[in-house]
Amino acid sequence: MKLLLVGEYRDGRLAAETAELFGFAARLDAEVSMVLVGSADDLPAFDGRFYLADLETYGEYQPDVHKRLVFEAIEGEQPDVVVFLHSSYGWDLAPRIAAAMQTAQVSGVVGIDDGGYVVESCNGKMLRTVHPETPVAVLTLQPGAFEALKMDAQPEVIKLDTSSESAIKFVGCRQPEAGVDLTRAEVIVSAGRGVGSADQVALVEALASALGGEVGASRQAVDAGWLDRSRQIGTSGQSVSPALYVACGISGAIQHLAGMKGSGIVLAVNTDRDAPIASVADVLVVADVAEFLPALVEALEKR
Ligand SMILES: Cc1cc2nc3c(=O)[nH]c(=O)nc-3n(C[C@H](O)[C@H](O)[C@H](O)COP(=O)(O)OP(=O)(O)OC[C@H]3O[C@@H](n4cnc5c(N)ncnc54)[C@H](O)[C@@H]3O)c2cc1C
Repeated sequence: MKLLLVGEYRDGRLAAETAELFGFAARLDAEVSMVLVGSADDLPAFDGRFYLADLETYGEYQPDVHKRLVFEAIEGEQPDVVVFLHSSYGWDLAPRIAAAMQTAQVSGVVGIDDGGYVVESCNGKMLRTVHPETPVAVLTLQPGAFEALKMDAQPEVIKLDTSSESAIKFVGCRQPEAGVDLTRAEVIVSAGRGVGSADQVALVEALASALGGEVGASRQAVDAGWLDRSRQIGTSGQSVSPALYVACGISGAIQHLAGMKGSGIVLAVNTDRDAPIASVADVLVVADVAEFLPALVEALEKR
């Protein structure tokens, strides 16, 4: 199987998740090439052909120009699968490539199962396996789903050159205003839907205060209006790496795990011993947050 990976530059740097494309390729034991609009000074190392287009000439994103560049690499490689990250870049460019090729597209792949691609459905509550029926498939990979693989080998670089004329003007990306920076917190205590109500978030805040940490949240807790969006952790929130992460009433959906997988010790409090958070927790307390959190705060205050 031949894979063409589409790397990504963001804010002037190689996006860290690009390494996850190699982790995906390793799972398939596939022959790999990569196309990237980037700078020769900051390229990923891997064993394969590298189609490089100059960042200064083509910009970090320009839909029709980047589409032409990816097509040049597709013509050179004739891959079976073209693989993007499930990022704003991939969301926009992958369907353009798939539609132009009249080929299957699978978005947000989180796993590989029996030659098919596993994707989430019902807001992450269920998984389904998709088998594309076209000769070529275009995929986007959910960040955090595959290992970020670092390699040593040097690729063979092939420079891409195409017209930079564009019918579309890409204005740029704007980061949401950061209300609170959780990226440097040593301790984070996060609230999920299992906390139950906005009032109950006080239990999480009390534990965060007793531990000298910050309060984080799952998307469900943010969407419910219990906590500010700036406290959301996950693929559409912040990526954090505290020494201690306490997940209170959080199931452990892949989008949440992607944002906290760099944590040191993970303590999860959940009534369901089989919740997916158990797979990353160092300690799982099977309990109701309304009972366990006050008891833990009381014990900490007695120290
Ligand atoms: C494109 C996209 C991007 C996303 N980005 C993010 C993101 O950045 N961050 C994020 O978090 N999610 C994100 N999500 C949503 C994600 O898929 C999940 O829906 C979300 O993480 C679930 O939040 P939760 O764990 O709080 O809620 P639930 O999945 O509903 O889990 C609640 C948990 O609480 C437990 N529980 C219930 N009652 C109690 C109790 N009394 N005591 C203890 N435990 C209890 C339950 O057993 C359950 O495990 C995204 C989804 C999509 C599609």
